[in-house]
Amino acid sequence: MSDLQFFHEGALIGVLTAQPLDRVLDYKAPEGGCMLGAFVEVPLGPRKVLGVVWGEGQGGYDLAKVRAVIRVLDAVPMRHEMRSFLIRAADYTLTPLTAMLRLATRSPGLGDPPSMRKVLRLANADPDRATDARRRVIGVMQEYGGLAFTPAELAEYAGVGTGVIKGLVKQGVIVEEDTPRDLPYPRLDAGHSAVDLTPEQAEGSARLCAAVASGKYGTTLLKGVTGSGKTEVYLEAVAECLRKGRQALVLLPEIALTSEFLTRVEARFGARPAEWHSGVTTTERRRCWRMVGEGEAQLIVGARSALFLPYRDLGLIVVDEEHDTSYKQEEGVMYNARDMAVLRAAICGAQVVLASATPSLESWVNADAGKYTRLTLTSRFGAAVMPDMKAIDMRPEALPSTRWISDVLAGEVRKRLAKGEQSLLFINRRGYAPITLCRACGHQIGCDHCDARMVEHRFQNRLVCHQCGETKPMPTICPGCGAEDRLAPVGPGVERLGEETAALFPDARVAVLSSDLFGSARALKAQIKAIADGEADIIIGTQLVAKGHNFPLLTLVGVIDADLGLQGSDLRAAERTFQLMRQVAGRAGRMDKPGMALLQTYQPEHPVIRAILSGDEEGFWKAEAEERKAAGVPPYGRMAGIILSSPDVAQVFDLGAQMARHDGPLRAIGAQVYGPAPAPIARIRGRHRVRLLVKAEKAAPLQSALQKWVAQFKIPNSIRLQIDIDPQNFF
Ligand code: ADP
Ligand code: ZN
Repeated sequence: MSDLQFFHEGALIGVLTAQPLDRVLDYKAPEGGCMLGAFVEVPLGPRKVLGVVWGEGQGGYDLAKVRAVIRVLDAVPMRHEMRSFLIRAADYTLTPLTAMLRLATRSPGLGDPPSMRKVLRLANADPDRATDARRRVIGVMQEYGGLAFTPAELAEYAGVGTGVIKGLVKQGVIVEEDTPRDLPYPRLDAGHSAVDLTPEQAEGSARLCAAVASGKYGTTLLKGVTGSGKTEVYLEAVAECLRKGRQALVLLPEIALTSEFLTRVEARFGARPAEWHSGVTTTERRRCWRMVGEGEAQLIVGARSALFLPYRDLGLIVVDEEHDTSYKQEEGVMYNARDMAVLRAAICGAQVVLASATPSLESWVNADAGKYTRLTLTSRFGAAVMPDMKAIDMRPEALPSTRWISDVLAGEVRKRLAKGEQSLLFINRRGYAPITLCRACGHQIGCDHCDARMVEHRFQNRLVCHQCGETKPMPTICPGCGAEDRLAPVGPGVERLGEETAALFPDARVAVLSSDLFGSARALKAQIKAIADGEADIIIGTQLVAKGHNFPLLTLVGVIDADLGLQGSDLRAAERTFQLMRQVAGRAGRMDKPGMALLQTYQPEHPVIRAILSGDEEGFWKAEAEERKAAGVPPYGRMAGIILSSPDVAQVFDLGAQMARHDGPLRAIGAQVYGPAPAPIARIRGRHRVRLLVKAEKAAPLQSALQKWVAQFKIPNSIRLQIDIDPQNFF
């Protein structure tokens, strides 16, 4: 079907809406007609809803009763390529097409006509009095550089009332301007300022550029240790894509990483790219969506949902830190952005670059099998070398139960303090203590709505459920036995480790870095920058710090509990631990000073710990791949998780058991069903959860079999059924 199909006024057309109705609705084309793919507003009952012209109408009933499209919105019609992407992504993830459309229409004010609006810019004047609130306003404007704000947005970002802003406008510190909504982004200059690549980098860059220039689909796994210049290399592929006049998308796993990356883009291309993630103002999101569609945004830097922007001509998708688990969306539409990037690129003839120091086993296997091209950068740039890695055997250390930093590790930290270098102590646990226990009766405080313990967050003086987010004040009386002042924290979290560190090194500046200690992404960014500038001696961090931040003064990484990830029964436990430990260790010694990574462990002879220490990555991947192959599990087999949840525990188990019994459509493709079993977290937000797991061979038509299987059952409204294709987590 061509993109240019036109429907004359009154023609019967099918419109897909984002409403939860599983079919395309018939309407009459409006006055002036409409294009296939046009975004339209249609009447639905008493409401007006957004939709896309999906094709010819079904017809077959009284045409006089068919209602007409209200209006065609002022947006570039959805392209054929986008429509194919949505259909294939819906088929793959077994998601209703209407829900996929919702992902593709997440632009505020999508249909508003172009208009002028008031925006605020910083002028060159100082206020008469610099109050705290005023400083915050100016700070926000400086930090966001070229971005435009409406008065309400600025007030929200700076956390001030609009009165403060009006005051600054009156004094001429801020000026109001009328601008058209949705300005195009400044042009990026592919030749602005390239660095001199090392021979190895140059070869990688040449191969990526040739792939991009081919204008065809292909995926490359770009593997290289942290600091080897992967970013420099893929930015050259971006440059080639810009020279070809096509658009490029760079996906990052964490919003906190964007600001450092934007600065690099600006240095390389002379201007800032478009941004798309939850930390961007609604005004900027709207601008981004429109400009991407009009081809006036050449490079987009964003989170996974940026895959659903309406690109005019997408030529390259980079998935940075491709192994990162946050690429898998676990709520609503369950999709893996890495896999969807490959799908999207295959449809539109684009190249994909998957960059990582520690690729996912899936990508490693695809590269090994020749489905992906493999590019490897073997050494760190400049004088930097990979840190020395050693285990600290915790058994002879015999620490008391309220201490977690061994004497060996403390000694190494002390050496860094004396030299003015930074140390990072890593623990993958948020909060103060994972367990709050009553010393009188043994009761552990749990969440009322979930089958999970509540975690003490001393900084907020509250208990928090990490499943549902429920919080309550820290009690002084045991809810189990009523004893007073007998509740005690058990085990370490990042906050408690901060306390131990402060006690051990009273003169050191200690910074605790955990996502929930910061009210906003901006505050977190500021803290990360302060640390990079040397404003801390010891950093205590969770998983957050493992993700690509650059701390030049850091020369020591201490992993407090390297065994933590090995305890799970999860299929990916070994892989995850291996990735995380190597990523964390990669934070040390990025500049000219050599780094050291120390792993505290009670099982130094565990094969995963030994693989991490020996640095024999290929050996680790091969062994892990062999094990998965023998077990017939991903990436050598396929899996789907079925999660049933309901307030009524008997009801979910009944349905689960019934589903397991009537497995004909699955058996027909040689697949097996396991379960029902209570999910590892058996209750979340008051809903009881039961899981079934379906395993199939790699080539089996899993999706269609699942569809037939599920269609056999009448599912009551009180039960929610979710299908998770290629599940990553088994919670
Ligand atoms: P990675 O993405 O593999 O972690 P980066 O691309 O971030 O590595 O490179 C690490 C650091 O080394 C960055 O500060 C980068 O600017 C610098 N660097 C890498 N290659 C070069 C080069 N050829 N010339 C100058 N600086 C480089
Ligand atoms: Zn809860």
